[in-house]
Amino acid sequence: MTPFVYRCTDCGRTYSRDEVRYLCPTCGESYRPGIPLTGVLEAVFDYPAIHGRFQPGRPDWGLFCAVEDRYHPPLPVGNTPMARLDRTAAELGLGTLWVKNDGLNPSGSLKDRASFLVAAEAARLGIDLIVAASTGNAASALAAVCASTGQKALIFVPEKAPKAKLVQMVLYGATVVPVKGTYDDAFRLSLDYTAKRGGLNRNTAYHPLTLEGKKTAGLEIWAQAGFRVPDAIFVSVGDGVILGGVAKAFLDLNRAGLIDRLPRLIGVQADTSDAIHRYVETGVYSDAANPTTRADSISVTCPSNAHGARRAILESGGLTLTVTDEEILSAQATLASRSGIFTEPAGATAFAGLLKLQASSRALPADASAVILATGNGLKDVEAPLSRISIPPAVEPVLEALSL
Ligand SMILES: *Cc1c(COP(=O)(O)O)cnc(C)c1O
Ligand SMILES: [Zn+2]
Repeated sequence: MTPFVYRCTDCGRTYSRDEVRYLCPTCGESYRPGIPLTGVLEAVFDYPAIHGRFQPGRPDWGLFCAVEDRYHPPLPVGNTPMARLDRTAAELGLGTLWVKNDGLNPSGSLKDRASFLVAAEAARLGIDLIVAASTGNAASALAAVCASTGQKALIFVPEKAPKAKLVQMVLYGATVVPVKGTYDDAFRLSLDYTAKRGGLNRNTAYHPLTLEGKKTAGLEIWAQAGFRVPDAIFVSVGDGVILGGVAKAFLDLNRAGLIDRLPRLIGVQADTSDAIHRYVETGVYSDAANPTTRADSISVTCPSNAHGARRAILESGGLTLTVTDEEILSAQATLASRSGIFTEPAGATAFAGLLKLQASSRALPADASAVILATGNGLKDVEAPLSRISIPPAVEPVLEALSL
């Protein structure tokens, strides 16, 4: 842990860590459910202190952490492997291609990183109840982390969340409230709950440490790429907090004087859930009216971190793309059969974006290094790929029955 203050990403005012909890008291005033969050806070560390103590040979990620070790949950999270796909890189005209497999987190998604840090913060504050709205993975992650600490998790999810995710959260022992409505409805309800009935709210971007937790994926990417900055990182985007967290990792490394450039961030959205994409392209925000994508984890009408994600993409010299559900499911199958990595549709969305970009006039150059962030495990939603494959019929257990 390194000392830090919170800074408002809109007005720039700074606050000590215990002076504020969620949004900037001034800019958050104008926030009302149904618009992207305003007054999102970011942690600004004592960067000279990090610079003086960080040794790449023995990286101490604790230096980039906003909560003291003694409050950390006992469930190991993060430190996921990053695979190199040389054959696929050559086919796509890239120098190097990695896939960071965050589906290997304990609850099967990158969301464990955010839940871990918010649970640590709740322990520091002495708050026993953590409340979240989620499309599914954030809830499973919170439930898993709370199972390890004995904290209580109260979860609002859309009733249509994939079965495996609902099974996870119930089995982990959380109190699960399926909501008749969308993720955005669940988000509103959970804010109401913590405002009037208590508990610590873990909603993405609303609690500033969700972004800090997700940041750890970016720090690991830097280390696993040999302490080099990859040219481009492909991230699937729903609320835009994973993308914001990856951006924050490289900003922190840069502010600590450990790197001297930023990776281009390529945000990929489903074409029906494209609010951030259109915001980046036009500079004007409007909701995604009907986010029907099969990639449930990125199905969002009003992304809470729309402003932060747009800033991060522009600052990195990156761009956004949209892909169809057909392209997502096809990319999921291609990635699985080429790499052995089975990621859920939302995770495969990043790879679909890479395939689309490399087939376009904006393709990354031949010596470029790129990272795909595979954000969730494919086993969380086996119904999605089942529409494209068939499982062979059974045979009699005799050699003659085989035509192979
Ligand atoms: C949450 C999630 C995303 C998107 O993250 P945001 O911060 O909402 O943009 C992508 N993939 C998976 C598997 C997720 O669970
Ligand atoms: Zn402010």
